[in-house]
Amino acid sequence: MTDIKKVNLLGLSPEKLIEFFESIGEKKFRATQVIKWIHQKGAESFDEMTDVSKALRAKLEQICEIRAPEVVSQNISADGTRKWIIRTEGGKNDCVETVLIPDGDRATLCVSSQVGCSLDCSFCSTGKQGFNRNLTPAEIIGQVAIAIKSFGPMDPNGPRRVTNVVMMGMGEPLMNFEPVVDAMILMMHDHAYGLSKRRVTLSTSGVVPKIYELVKRTDVSLAVSLHAPNDALRNELVPINKKYPIAELMEACQFYLANLPDKRHITIEYTLMSGVNDNEEQAHELAELLKTLECKINLIPFNPFPHSGYEKPSNNRTRRFQKILADAGYTVTVRTTRGDDIDAACGQLVGDFQDRTRRSQKYIELREVKS
Ligand code: SAH
Ligand code: SF4
Repeated sequence: MTDIKKVNLLGLSPEKLIEFFESIGEKKFRATQVIKWIHQKGAESFDEMTDVSKALRAKLEQICEIRAPEVVSQNISADGTRKWIIRTEGGKNDCVETVLIPDGDRATLCVSSQVGCSLDCSFCSTGKQGFNRNLTPAEIIGQVAIAIKSFGPMDPNGPRRVTNVVMMGMGEPLMNFEPVVDAMILMMHDHAYGLSKRRVTLSTSGVVPKIYELVKRTDVSLAVSLHAPNDALRNELVPINKKYPIAELMEACQFYLANLPDKRHITIEYTLMSGVNDNEEQAHELAELLKTLECKINLIPFNPFPHSGYEKPSNNRTRRFQKILADAGYTVTVRTTRGDDIDAACGQLVGDFQDRTRRSQKYIELREVKS
């Protein structure tokens, strides 16, 4: 008998799950039952689905599965930040990282969308790794399930363990469009994780055509990684700018906001690198550039990684940059680094893992020599 690949129901959007049930001759409402079991109650097997008939459970068992990606490791920082290394289906070294950052009554999960990234921003360790592969919808939503389950069995009536999701882990989410959209729909759907659309944020380095497409498909919040106030500098730091320059990106941001059903702002992310993009003139230039955009600015002091060639600015320089923007009328936050002891900060997500991979490869080699 040939081995038929089972359909992994974990990553199917509500719409696709309905299609699937109809395709196997079952009623629509079965999809609603199953989606609640998987995403609200955390079921990992069909046996647990007590309101689904035994016959249907047996049928599902034959042709489908509920499979989250494998957790290679979980670390909990002294400040409560949790970090997981998750193995994807590509092979033993195809791993990504997921980070949960608690902050008062909020807990923000930073989710990865790709193994590596093809866009090669000069200051990003994920970019330095190159592009490896896209995550599947199950691997993306699986990161949410893993984080929630790390607190014990799921309880649909208990307090939310993850209140916000940011697509700011490894990879460029708009370069893995369909799987990311499906996973975000699940994050927000009432029968799945029920997060508010204001609390699900996609961060992009500026894949302009996809910004236009995104607003047709979802109404998540948008963060744009700008990092420079002019094309000359942005071309160096964020190479995709050569294809989609700042003026086009700004136009896409305006379109995005104008087509949302409610009033929202764009979050502008600006990683501050000492002596590169953090001087007073650049702060004024940025203030001028953004003056017609409804936005808030988030400054991210550069997170160092080996051989990056960049440095984080002093606190004084960061504060001066922030003040110029604040004086120009912007709401400006400075991101504080969390999970320092487990290397969980933005842009540090892969260097550390590669080191660990090399270490584990060495270990495997040693074992092979021994045996
Ligand atoms: N690809 C998407 C999302 C992932 S990166 C994007 O670029 O927006 C998430 C954020 O971390 C981006 O704003 C990115 O520019 C920033 N970042 C990357 N490397 C960093 C580093 N070493 N220090 C600080 N921020 C970094
Ligand atoms: Fe890719 Fe974002 Fe890193 Fe740029 S900053 S290389 S787009 S992950």
